[in-house]
Amino acid sequence: MIYFIGAGPGDPELITIKGKRLIEEADVIVYAGSLVNPQVLVGAKPGAKIYNSATMTLDEVISVLCQGEKEGKRVVRVHTGDPSLYGAIREQMAELDRLRIAYEVIPGVSSFLAAAAAIKREYTMPGISQTVILTRMEGRTPVPKRECIPELAAHQATMVIFLSVGQIALLCEQLQQGGYEANTPAAVVYKASWEEETIVCGTLRDLAEKVKAAGIRKTALVMVGEFLGDVFETSKLYDPEFGHEYRTAKNGGHEN
Ligand code: SAH
Repeated sequence: MIYFIGAGPGDPELITIKGKRLIEEADVIVYAGSLVNPQVLVGAKPGAKIYNSATMTLDEVISVLCQGEKEGKRVVRVHTGDPSLYGAIREQMAELDRLRIAYEVIPGVSSFLAAAAAIKREYTMPGISQTVILTRMEGRTPVPKRECIPELAAHQATMVIFLSVGQIALLCEQLQQGGYEANTPAAVVYKASWEEETIVCGTLRDLAEKVKAAGIRKTALVMVGEFLGDVFETSKLYDPEFGHEYRTAKNGGHEN
């Protein structure tokens, strides 16, 4: 059994208990060295073989995983955040399927969740947005045309944009082309949950300039939407007039 593990966003305490245990038990560890905090590997056994996948190809990764498995070793593949987002995990699972090697996926705390925690905001706000769009800009890797930034921006939903801070000026421009006002609040969180964590807040008009001034060029998320602002409705969930399965409404408010 091979375990894919979400290592979390950076802070070594933000890995799951299960993920941590599996790392401690592993004989072979392949980790995404460009982003996984090496601190999450400190509990590894002294004799564990540790490979950094940053310099490896898919074939090389698969061959290390299979080799370990064949030798009856405990093998783990460690991804940053949660492996289901921009993790290139699917192609690895497809290879393991082809080779009939069993695997399991242990989820992790994605960086977009750590970023919301860092800026102390809620992505889904009543009357503001009930939808979160996780996306990235086209860079060296293409994005399907129907998902270009202006198309997505037209929804005015909460947006979290991965892998794009290097093109922040173009990004802010395209978000406005899509319909967000220039004064829409926007923020960048660099290395959420790491010691170097940096937060830059602004609007679509001035964010690019502020991010450049802060020297942020990678490992950051761009967030856009009125959820960052201070105008919102309070939720029905804790509204005394609003009853639900676990609480009766005061003053005969309607049940839901
Ligand atoms: N699977 C990861 C994402 C991998 S793609 C996850 O769930 O978070 C790598 C991109 O994720 C980076 O370019 C950056 O946009 C974002 N990222 C990863 N870790 C981050 C962190 N700690 N803070 C801010 N952004 C981060």
